[in-house]
Amino acid sequence: MYREFEYLTPTSWEEAAASLEDGTSAVLAGGTDLLTRVNARLRPQPDRLVSLRGLPAVAAVSHAGAELVVEARALLDQVVLAEAVKTNFAALAEACAHIGSPQTRNRATLVGNLCSASSAADACPASLCFSPLVRVQTESGLRELPLSELFAGPRQTSLGPKELVREVVFPQPPPRTGSAYRRVGSREVCDCATVVVAVALSLDEAGGIAQAAIGLGSVAPTPIRATEAEELLLGKVLDADLAAQAAEVAARATAPITDIRGSADYRREVVQSVLPAVLRTAHCRARGACS
Ligand SMILES: Cc1cc2nc3c(=O)[nH]c(=O)nc-3n(C[C@H](O)[C@H](O)[C@H](O)COP(=O)(O)OP(=O)(O)OC[C@H]3O[C@@H](n4cnc5c(N)ncnc54)[C@H](O)[C@@H]3O)c2cc1C
Repeated sequence: MYREFEYLTPTSWEEAAASLEDGTSAVLAGGTDLLTRVNARLRPQPDRLVSLRGLPAVAAVSHAGAELVVEARALLDQVVLAEAVKTNFAALAEACAHIGSPQTRNRATLVGNLCSASSAADACPASLCFSPLVRVQTESGLRELPLSELFAGPRQTSLGPKELVREVVFPQPPPRTGSAYRRVGSREVCDCATVVVAVALSLDEAGGIAQAAIGLGSVAPTPIRATEAEELLLGKVLDADLAAQAAEVAARATAPITDIRGSADYRREVVQSVLPAVLRTAHCRARGACS
């Protein structure tokens, strides 16, 4: 039995925002998450789908000067293939490249992944590492919020009833920045990750860590940054001991659940054992010593 929906294709962003009715509407981007949940009868079930399809065309992924702008309809594949993303936001490119299959990535959007607000969504920890701003379309204009404030709870965003995401703006990382991503799961692709780890490190001229970001997924109700572990790294030179200490602190800061993919203890152990390697890769890239 198929459900019936009201299907709207607004032609302006303001109209799209105005079309969203509280609790009964959903924005439809690629539909790879939303329609799967609708078919599985998971709640909440929308009655109205507001498609992004009719909105005016703009460049999907653009890199001008000091920022990378990923528009709401930018496909995961477009993000993966964008030269500016590969060069400056490697963890994001790697995360997007690991989502689903080629077919999924040709249909699904980065913004849809972020707005699913799933703790296990692969692109969320990597995106968090670059501290982007989310530009939100309201009925009357635009407002901005840090991505970390978009995640309000498991599969819950902080968007208001008549709001949708228009684009995500990533500031250009400082020179000598390297980043890396790793997911651990029972299958390499097409499965929810058991743990997602992403890191971005920026080095000063002497090789010390000037900025550190550690994003984690599937280990708390929402994607998180491991801020205490980040602080531990600042001003120091990465070696095996420091990486192990940071991983221990990061693992302690998680609040995982036990589910079909792994126990809470296993997830903590994965963070502790995988994070040092991800830190090393990001560090190596920041030094320009590996690709
Ligand atoms: C076979 C398969 C494999 C998958 N594998 C993975 C995987 O490995 N890793 C992973 O993380 N995910 C995976 N997914 C889930 C999904 O593909 C991704 O989360 C994808 O990025 C969602 O993008 P979308 O454009 O299809 O979003 P949609 O399904 O259209 O939307 C997702 C959610 O975001 C909301 N939304 C979308 N755009 C906006 C907007 N502009 N403003 C406000 N709200 C918005 C929707 O209302 C909905 O709640 C998989 C899905 C399938 C079908």
